Amino acid sequence: MLPLEKIKSGFVALIGRPNVGKSTLLNALLNTKISIVSSVPQTTRYAIRGILNLSNAQIVFVDSPGIHSYKDNLAQYLNIIATRVLEDVEIVIYIVDVTRNPGYEEELIVKKLISLNTKIIMALNKIDKNKKFLNDYISLWNKEEQKILDNGSTKKLLYYIPISAKTGYNLDKLIEAIEENLPWGTPFYSKDTLTDFPLKFRIADIIREKLFLKLKKELPHSLAVEVIDIEDKNRCVYIEAYIYVNRTSQKQIIIGKKGSFIRDVGIASREEIEEMFHKKVYLHLQVKVIRGWQKKIRILKELGYQTI
Ligand code: GDP
Ligand code: MG
Repeated sequence: MLPLEKIKSGFVALIGRPNVGKSTLLNALLNTKISIVSSVPQTTRYAIRGILNLSNAQIVFVDSPGIHSYKDNLAQYLNIIATRVLEDVEIVIYIVDVTRNPGYEEELIVKKLISLNTKIIMALNKIDKNKKFLNDYISLWNKEEQKILDNGSTKKLLYYIPISAKTGYNLDKLIEAIEENLPWGTPFYSKDTLTDFPLKFRIADIIREKLFLKLKKELPHSLAVEVIDIEDKNRCVYIEAYIYVNRTSQKQIIIGKKGSFIRDVGIASREEIEEMFHKKVYLHLQVKVIRGWQKKIRILKELGYQTI
């Protein structure tokens, strides 16, 4: 029998308040503005934001809908951290912005992270700008962690690493720290599979996330997003996408009063897609009613579902 390919592999989540640099860090770690990413709808509860293949490790960066884009609903974010993101990830990269005062919200996030059973690496970001609050973040963490250590719990934090997602400072150390703490195993995704996951899945995933955020729990399972066309011109990118629903009544919900619902979804999606391309994006969204789209093989394939 051939020996199994032994490498380290596992799922890693990026957690942190808005604007701490999660997207910038992810892009920097993946070493390219547009990463090879997939979303495998329904087969995993996570969106896969990027996969970093190293000679001895495969790091799969994940997050769950809403995690990137919480703006002012902290309670919801804490909930997502607790119930969805941290359940099955091997490591959490907890990102903070050392140029900004930690404040009360940060304390809540620290408490939440400490209460869960996951290894944590703290990335102290934006060190290129200044390190004004670096020590405050470290002492906040230590203070909270000490409380659980006093109660006989084990240490959750593996490292503090000052980094700059912008300049790349210490990102090699961060990757080393992740690699060191992943379990041995076989890779989750073959390198061939990766190249089969095109950019359009990532874009569809962003649009789907914005829809779900706005819809709350109304229609998630009867809705799908398909990116039909991406045209990368020199100065901008044109994207056309379909939103599939089963019924006309659902279409009306997605369109909203005078088109306001779909317009908001479009704006939020476009902003995040622009972050990815670093150029202007024109996003054209259309809602299509296809009764039972879940059963239509072609559409399922286009959406990235496994079909036999
Ligand atoms: P997210 O909301 O956590 O995904 O944060 P973003 O990645 O969108 O970053 C928010 C802002 O911080 C952007 O303007 C980034 O350019 C900036 N930023 C991110 N990382 C760094 C860093 O290491 N240094 C500096 N100076 N700015 C950064
Ligand atoms: Mg972001």
